[in-house]
Amino acid sequence: MSTENFSTFDDLYLHELRDLWDAERQLLDALPAMAEAASEPELKQALRQHLTVTKEQKARLEKIFKSLDESPEGHTCAAMKGLIKEGNDIARATGDATVRDAGIIGAAQRVEHYEIAGYGTARTYAQRLGRSEDVDLLDATLREESFANELLTEIAESGVNEQAVRA
Ligand code: ZN
Ligand code: FE
Ligand code: FE
Ligand code: FE
Repeated sequence: MSTENFSTFDDLYLHELRDLWDAERQLLDALPAMAEAASEPELKQALRQHLTVTKEQKARLEKIFKSLDESPEGHTCAAMKGLIKEGNDIARATGDATVRDAGIIGAAQRVEHYEIAGYGTARTYAQRLGRSEDVDLLDATLREESFANELLTEIAESGVNEQAVRA
C-alpha cells in the first residue's frame, strides 16, 4: 500500500482509472469460478457472458492509459478484493443450489453496483477534463455494467428467488 499524491485533478482521474482497471483484472480471475458455482443455466450464462464483456472493459481502460501515456499498474482495488471474497464465500456454500444461486446474484449485483459507481465517477471526471474519447469509452462500459445489473435482477425475479423460497 502506498500513499496517494493528489496534486492535480488528473492525478485523481488516474487513480480512479487504475482502481477500475485493477477491479476488472480481479474480476477476470474470479468470474469463472462464480459461473462454475451457479446452477441455474441462465445465471451461469449471464456470468460467462459478463466474463467476455469484462475482457473488453479492461481493454477499453488500457486504451485510455495508452492515450495518457500512463501505466495501468500500481493500485489494488481493496473493495473488489472484499466483494470477490464475499462472492467466493457464497459460491462455496453448501446446502440448496437455488438458494445459493440467489446469494450469488446478490454478490454479483454488489460488484456491478461498485463498478457503476466507479465508472460514473470516472466518466464525470473525463467530461470535466475535456477528454471526450475517454467519456465515450467509459460510457460504453457503464452501460454494460448497468445492463449486467438489470439482467441479474431479471434472473432473480423471473424464478430463482421464487424457487429459493420453496427450498
Ligand atoms: Zn490509487
Ligand atoms: Fe466491469
Ligand atoms: Fe476500488
Ligand atoms: Fe461488471
